[in-house]
Amino acid sequence: MSFADRPPSPPAAVSQSSPATPTTKPRRTKAAKGCGVCTQFKTIRRAPIKETFAAGIPMSGSSSALESAGTSAPSTPAPYRPFPCPPDSASLGSSTWTFLHTMAAYYPETPTKAEQLSMRNMISALTRFYPCGDCAEHLTQEVIRNPPVVTSNRALSNWFCQVHNEVNERQGKPKFDCSKAFERWKDGTAGNDCFSELGGDH
Ligand SMILES: Cc1cc2nc3c(=O)[nH]c(=O)nc-3n(C[C@H](O)[C@H](O)[C@H](O)COP(=O)(O)OP(=O)(O)OC[C@H]3O[C@@H](n4cnc5c(N)ncnc54)[C@H](O)[C@@H]3O)c2cc1C
Repeated sequence: MSFADRPPSPPAAVSQSSPATPTTKPRRTKAAKGCGVCTQFKTIRRAPIKETFAAGIPMSGSSSALESAGTSAPSTPAPYRPFPCPPDSASLGSSTWTFLHTMAAYYPETPTKAEQLSMRNMISALTRFYPCGDCAEHLTQEVIRNPPVVTSNRALSNWFCQVHNEVNERQGKPKFDCSKAFERWKDGTAGNDCFSELGGDH
């Protein structure tokens, strides 16, 4: 079975010693308050919306996205442009790893029990709903063999790194040095001015 071609399987077993629905609000950590990814998203949202972002959506030739949303009458409709192709397992995988490793790096240093349970549930849901069937199956086996470690951002990053390395190994790719996970996914390499436009607030 391959991409999106399998019925949902039961989630991999994770500890359910606490209530399934956390009642506390997620805490904002120091990293989250001044976080690079959040600030960059805000910057993107402030930027003018380019029509190239709206491929597939009929837009007026001269008006902005807001105008086409109904704040003023659109002029002549532009020709319909098709969306890019949906993701295959490689592009989905790469995007998902970006999310997972970044999420782990920004996870709290000292998560509450509720936050730890939420993370376990998230990983469990991933084993169930990840749309590449073979990948989800492998991930399920890996979670059983090597249960998630959710006690801190460093521990979780290291765990995701190990899981990713297991896939890398099966694909014949080199292993990633897990001690570099924060450099890759949060801090950036020293001297490489990744967040200069943010004035050092990341
Ligand atoms: C949960 C999951 C399970 C998957 N299972 C399979 C599978 O069973 N079979 C399959 O063929 N594909 C699987 N994939 C997809 C596969 O892992 C790759 O994402 C895909 O092949 C594209 O590879 P890539 O070369 O673009 O780089 P990716 O492997 O997607 O890596 C992206 C970037 O992550 C960084 N990186 C690499 N390794 C690590 C690491 N260990 N820790 C931290 N950062 C790292 C590197 O900078 C790299 O450029 C899975 C993806 C996910 C998210």
